[in-house]
Amino acid sequence: MPQDRRNAPRVVSGAKQALRGLERHTEANGGIAPGGLIPTGDSCPPVLATGGVSEILTPVTTTPDLTTFDLILVNTSAGKDSQAMLDYVVAQADAAGVDRSRIVCFHADLGRVEWAGTADLAAEHAAHYGLRIVTIARPQGDLLDHIEARGMFPSSAARYCTSDHKRGQAYKALTMLVAELHLGRPARVLNCMGLRAEESAARAKRTPVRYDRMASGKGTVRQVTEWLPILDWTVAQVWERIAQAGTNAHPAYAAGMPRLSCCFCVLASRSALVLAAQLAPALAAEYAAVELRIGHRFTKALSMGEIIAQANAATEAGEGVIAADWAA
Ligand code: SF4
Repeated sequence: MPQDRRNAPRVVSGAKQALRGLERHTEANGGIAPGGLIPTGDSCPPVLATGGVSEILTPVTTTPDLTTFDLILVNTSAGKDSQAMLDYVVAQADAAGVDRSRIVCFHADLGRVEWAGTADLAAEHAAHYGLRIVTIARPQGDLLDHIEARGMFPSSAARYCTSDHKRGQAYKALTMLVAELHLGRPARVLNCMGLRAEESAARAKRTPVRYDRMASGKGTVRQVTEWLPILDWTVAQVWERIAQAGTNAHPAYAAGMPRLSCCFCVLASRSALVLAAQLAPALAAEYAAVELRIGHRFTKALSMGEIIAQANAATEAGEGVIAADWAA
């Protein structure tokens, strides 16, 4: 058995039971991604890793043994799913007797492209539970800078927005936090994300607990288990949990946005983009200016100029825009 698997953290109540449930899957076998991934946003779809054979722990249970981890990383976009998940993870850790100092929140700061106040809200959510938060932004510039440098907007086929601005920064956080532990052995890390099956067919295929080979690398420094604690929750359950937690939701929801993260997500519905252009006109204008400079449309179907025109027309007509959700 390879070193990275031999020392992998226990994710079910008995190690033998876990090993019995260990099955090999390929991407063609059920569409499960080979290797690992860290999609970190409220609206980011999972990014499939490339190459290799996936090894996942078939979920004998949907809750790992939290006491076995040196570090519990909670990815937060400050969106509703992250917010509900954070409350749930903290409650589970408290119930298991895990000290909260072992839980750290991570927020990928997207700069101009995320809704105003998002990074502050993520910090507020962490502070509510007395947790440390690590916030990292891509040092070369935010996503709009990146789009201009590449001369193209991201798309479902080229989701460099997620890989470079979220997953890559989350890996940096893992590297930094594991180094701080000075364990002298591979750190056992639980990486928690607020993905829900309801959000898309791709997410519905995800397994709630798996060993993340991509995030673990060779497994000699860190061994990362991915946990999706609210994978089977409905949106109603999410809002109910937030109400019980008593933490503030981002005002973009009250304004009608179904999701947070980037104001203008390349995967979003037309109506959501039009509403976002009404709510964040200055940022919409920046996108439109970039679009003109690079000569590449926001999406194949829709330019930012068209989105702004529709937003202005709706505003002038006094028509309310009802933003439809989208698969992510
Ligand atoms: S554009 Fe959409 S998919 Fe890309 S990082 Fe932003 S929210 Fe995620």
